[in-house]
Amino acid sequence: MAQHFLLSAEARTLSLKAIYQGGEEKAYEAFKRLRWQETKGEPVCPKCGCLDHYAITTRRKFKCAACHAQYSVTSGTMFASRKLSFTDLLAAICLFVNGSKGMSAVQFSRDLDVQYKTAFVLAHKLREALAAETANEILDGEVEIDGAYFGGHVRPENREEDRRDRRRTENRSDRRRVVIALRERKGRTLSFVRNREAEGVEIARARLVAKAKLFADEATHWDVLEMQFETGRINHSEAYSDGNGKHTNFVESYFSRLRRMVSGQHHHVSHRYLYQYANHAAWLEDHRRRSNGANAFALLGGALNHPVSRVWAGYWQRRAA
Ligand SMILES: [Zn+2]
Repeated sequence: MAQHFLLSAEARTLSLKAIYQGGEEKAYEAFKRLRWQETKGEPVCPKCGCLDHYAITTRRKFKCAACHAQYSVTSGTMFASRKLSFTDLLAAICLFVNGSKGMSAVQFSRDLDVQYKTAFVLAHKLREALAAETANEILDGEVEIDGAYFGGHVRPENREEDRRDRRRTENRSDRRRVVIALRERKGRTLSFVRNREAEGVEIARARLVAKAKLFADEATHWDVLEMQFETGRINHSEAYSDGNGKHTNFVESYFSRLRRMVSGQHHHVSHRYLYQYANHAAWLEDHRRRSNGANAFALLGGALNHPVSRVWAGYWQRRAA
């Protein structure tokens, strides 16, 4: 029997051992190479784009020869004003991509030996960076659409006579949200957090090419999409697949990863940040057949080309204010 990819040596190309044996200078070189990919690691002034600079070697900083701005490899990126060393940041990213069902902030803080708040914000910044990969993605070919509800659990009363029908809208929590996912077979997975699954109709119209073939279940709100796209519908009360490619099994396996992430790693997720976990699970799903080193460096490259996070920079300081 063929060996599963995740068990093969090709799947593990980066390890904590290698990162720490390589040391700070080697990790710093990796940051430079991924920040300034077009110049193969040669510094570029973030203010004016000039290549000429003076190196302030002792502080790992540069001074622009044209505009005299001082900058570092992380200036203007989501790692600006970082406190972790380059090795620790690289190790953090390695751990983060290795967690195939996500990473709780508690576990992350223990593994990195940093405060919970630091780990929480770092993980959310990384999720923001990985989501940027598909921010403008338009799907083509065979695409599956589906929705799954998360959060807003209403605990049943202990005594039966106190219980209310939790299926009724008025008895549901206002924190309940639906994750709507579009998954291109052999392509990317896009996720969106909304209040109702029917809102997926507008999303499909915006994120699919006109000639895409769409697969959906029997829910009636998808009916209108049949006027716009070639559509294959599968009635889940009868079958999960017709045996000829009419199914939503790929998008379902995305939801099962997200469910395991939420129940196994996070236990409880805020409806405000559900989109982050949904994007994280989509990224893991899409890159599950790539080595952990390739995933780590892709994520680091994404983070180093992502501006300072509006949501996560100074998160705890703003919460305290
Ligand atoms: Zn400059």
